[in-house]
Amino acid sequence: MTAQQADLGDCPNCGATVPTGQLLIEYEAESGGGVWAECPDCSKVVDPQR
Ligand SMILES: [Zn+2]
Repeated sequence: MTAQQADLGDCPNCGATVPTGQLLIEYEAESGGGVWAECPDCSKVVDPQR
């Protein structure tokens, strides 16, 4: 068992799970920030949703 997140979330475009290895950019925002990552399935740069 691990407390670490194994993935960034789900691709909003195709619904695939986006693993942490696909991370491109982390950004800060008033709402708490987020990440941009390349989806392993559709190859688009997306903001993964949990
Ligand atoms: Zn996708």
